[in-house]
Amino acid sequence: MATGNINVSVENIFPLIKKFLYSDHEIFLRELISNATDATLKLNHLIRIGEAKIEAKHPKIEIKINKEDNTLHIIDEGVGMTKDEVEKYINEIAFSGAEEFLEKYKDSDSKDTGIIGHFGLGFYSAFMVANKVEIKTKSWKDEPAAHWTCEGTTKFSLEESDKTDRGTEIILHINDDEKEFLEDQRITELLVKYNKFMPISIKFGTKEKELPKAEDAKEEDEPKKVTVDNIINNPNPAWTKQPTELEDADYNSFYSELYPTQFEEPLFHIHLNVDYPFNLTGILYFPKLGNDLSAQKDKIQLYQNQVYVTDNVEGIVPEFLTMLKGVIDSPDIPLNVSRSYLQADGAVKKISSYITRKVADKLKSIFNDNREDFEKKWNDIKVVIEYGMLSEDKFFEKAQSFALYPTTDEKFYTLEELKNEISELQTDKEDKLVILYASNKDTQHSYIKRAEAKGYKVVLLDSPIVSHLIQKIEQENEQKVSFVRVDSDHVENLIKKDTEQVSKLSDEEKETVKTSFETVVPKERYTVQLEALDSDTAPVVITQPEFMRRMKEMQQSGGGGMFGMGNMPEM
Ligand code: ADP
Ligand code: MG
Repeated sequence: MATGNINVSVENIFPLIKKFLYSDHEIFLRELISNATDATLKLNHLIRIGEAKIEAKHPKIEIKINKEDNTLHIIDEGVGMTKDEVEKYINEIAFSGAEEFLEKYKDSDSKDTGIIGHFGLGFYSAFMVANKVEIKTKSWKDEPAAHWTCEGTTKFSLEESDKTDRGTEIILHINDDEKEFLEDQRITELLVKYNKFMPISIKFGTKEKELPKAEDAKEEDEPKKVTVDNIINNPNPAWTKQPTELEDADYNSFYSELYPTQFEEPLFHIHLNVDYPFNLTGILYFPKLGNDLSAQKDKIQLYQNQVYVTDNVEGIVPEFLTMLKGVIDSPDIPLNVSRSYLQADGAVKKISSYITRKVADKLKSIFNDNREDFEKKWNDIKVVIEYGMLSEDKFFEKAQSFALYPTTDEKFYTLEELKNEISELQTDKEDKLVILYASNKDTQHSYIKRAEAKGYKVVLLDSPIVSHLIQKIEQENEQKVSFVRVDSDHVENLIKKDTEQVSKLSDEEKETVKTSFETVVPKERYTVQLEALDSDTAPVVITQPEFMRRMKEMQQSGGGGMFGMGNMPEM
């Protein structure tokens, strides 16, 4: 039996591993299962290129808990390691076998192997939860099996082992204060979180499965049950397939697989799929959003080679799209780096603008192909679009062609269409087009009625960021259009080409109403206007200069991120 020293430059990394490196001890399991997956994928690759003459079967990874011995076992049927390889790959910590494998086979499509490699500390993260770790491993090469043991110091032992099956078993002797990792429920939770879509089947225990009833079975017969492997993962998740292989129903069922507690179907999906100049796959879903920006429970999940990494995609996905759901899988996103680094990273910037472009293109194509459907969904998706128009100039440009302006008479116009619609009637003295809008159908009801009675179109803009958005649209249109809320005194300045409408009030009545209102309404801020065009419109309205209200609103909602924006204040 050989003993020796693990080759590390740092005096003793183990206390470090245990205390400082990861606050998240649980990621050890992700690392070990990633290694087991890599080992299996490597063997598959060697079989495929004819280097390993072994019959290809369906290899799996198994996780086992032994409560009596306080051990957790991760067992694979992959390439295994010879004694020399253990020396090299395990004892020389700074060495990544994954990188070496890719280097060696780089001429034989090794890119397609899906090898995962390390996220961080790799194998040694086992010592975050175990005081002793054993490796029993038998290589696919015809060599004796090896048995490595290490008790969390730089000393290790390496001897021959009697293991006969090809592959590797990692045995973790779990620390007393990490006993949670010996609970079935905790391990299931971790497997579901990190490994739900990994490419090799992962078995954890068994389960009972009901067999379909035989044709001649009687009503009262108990269904027959069989015991089957409890496979945790779906090795072929939808995002790894080609869009042409999938129907809408497949996308919806993948959505419920991703978010099992989410019962509402998504509105539509966007399949991401690029391999140059970076590699990225994924599926994004537009859920029903409404105006509630805080209702964001199921977030976009980030994967690398089908291993879950995080649900914090800040910096990778533009902020306005973080309200979407779904998955993104890319080996090209650097992990374990700060967010500010991420934002400065060239590849990440490209990824972010690719995603923005794809989303805009998809919205455009739904708008073009099925406008009716798009209009129906508008109110559920508009916050994302409006926020995107506000925050990303590229998106603003593209959104010009599909952003909708619903009117109070329940029609939907694009800005261009709206401009044409109102150009006759709604211009002011400076010849600007005036878009009248309401931000609340109920509280501004009488103002809407009044504007409609005058033959004006009123657009309903009720999302929380509207005051910022209209400012932006005015700018982009070189101030040739201006948005004016229905309760503004500005409405009076519109040039009406039709004949003057006559109020139903007598002069005397007008005077009485006006003076009694003016005693209670502060003159410096509001104007009292009298009108009664028909029995539906109010005889008197109180209006406010548009610029005054807007200034107040901008001050109140401030800049900041979208989730910090309050609701539009009513006057
Ligand atoms: P990385 O995965 O980035 O190479 P690790 O520290 O996770 O780094 O693993 C180091 C090396 O140990 C691997 O590259 C591989 O060569 C070897 N190894 C680890 N686990 C296994 C396993 N289950 N089967 C075969 N080799 C393994
Ligand atoms: Mg690894």
